[in-house]
Amino acid sequence: MKKTIQDLTQLRGKRVFVRVDFNVPLSDDGQVMDTTRIRETLPTLRALVEQGARLIVASHLGRPKGKVDDALRLSAVAEELQRELPDVPVRKVDEVVSAAVMEKANALKDGEILLLENLRFEPGEEKNDPELAKKLAALADVYVNDAFGAAHRAHASTEGITHYVQESVAGLLMAKEIEALERILTQPHRPFTAIIGGAKVSSKISVLKHLLDKVDNLVIGGGMAYTFLLGRGLSVGKSLVEPDFVEEARQLEEAAKQKGIQIILSQDLVVADRFGKDAKHQIVPVEAIPDDWEGMDIGPETRQRIRAVVEQSRSILWNGPLGVFEFPAFSEGTRAIAEAVVKATTNGAQTVLGGGDTLAAIELFRVPGSSFSHVSTGGGASLEFMEGKVLPGIAALNEKTAATV
Ligand code: ADP
Ligand code: MG
Repeated sequence: MKKTIQDLTQLRGKRVFVRVDFNVPLSDDGQVMDTTRIRETLPTLRALVEQGARLIVASHLGRPKGKVDDALRLSAVAEELQRELPDVPVRKVDEVVSAAVMEKANALKDGEILLLENLRFEPGEEKNDPELAKKLAALADVYVNDAFGAAHRAHASTEGITHYVQESVAGLLMAKEIEALERILTQPHRPFTAIIGGAKVSSKISVLKHLLDKVDNLVIGGGMAYTFLLGRGLSVGKSLVEPDFVEEARQLEEAAKQKGIQIILSQDLVVADRFGKDAKHQIVPVEAIPDDWEGMDIGPETRQRIRAVVEQSRSILWNGPLGVFEFPAFSEGTRAIAEAVVKATTNGAQTVLGGGDTLAAIELFRVPGSSFSHVSTGGGASLEFMEGKVLPGIAALNEKTAATV
């Protein structure tokens, strides 16, 4: 188990470097469009402030690629953070590292926050340059990583820095993410059902393979399902397929059969005459996709079947929409699954959601995140976690010692 900020004592007067994920969407005029990521880190920041620590807070934003980009400065983020923490002095510097930044960090008083400029303005950040890592480490005594969404990257602020500070621990959000994902993957309640959807098999095949050793039921939906249907020898019309993955899809089905895992694919579909919001559409059995049509969503029978499986499951992992939920005509499948997973949660199942578009879908359906046991904030990071990969930003954190367990 990783050490967390709850294992730290005597932080008063200490300089604590907190890596957060403030990679928020900005409007054209530079306003923060969604403050979720800022609000998610408040428990960690508050806890440290209350202990009298002096916080040096840093994040990346967008993809400036190692150069200063005025449109990607963290100034609007600093204003939001100040709004969220009205009683805490929040200052911002316009650089990541410099003598002036060092001076400001050293001038912090207990319980104050200094927000650094966008980490990715520094060319050394994404290269995990030890020189940058040392400069970041020099700003603080203790390192806290609360940026789960960036934990799958070995960057100077997520990995390199940990080699040059006395102590590297998880923030509360990071700890919550690790705990929820680890728990469902290693100690699921049975039956354990994974629902994996989304656009591409190529981006999720490793997740599917890793889950084969863990789940009882595997629901495969969304665009990636058509590559599996092709592997079953069905014709899929103009549906999204990745021909290079048909063989892997077939092998995965074979492996599932040998392990006694139930794979659930569509038995009926909503197909459209083209990819578009107002496309003509109809429901067809999976064996009867017309040549010029494409699959856009699971059909009503499939919804019922998945509902039934979900509602009798005690652990559910869901990543990826079941259809093109962005278009109302093709959102019913994803909506039905969202409702079923909420119901299962109400009935005591352990439910974990991940994936940027999956979160966008539940938001569109106005299903609050609190309707599930855990909603993962990190798209790429949660995917790599579900692949069974070691995330460098997590691996770099100190383990709890016997004394702190
Ligand atoms: P997540 O971000 O939740 O991991 P993905 O990025 O893998 O999900 O996939 C989400 C996208 O998959 C959505 O934009 C959705 O429209 C698309 N999608 C789902 N079903 C289909 C389909 N049948 N055909 C084409 N695209 C699909
Ligand atoms: Mg996505």
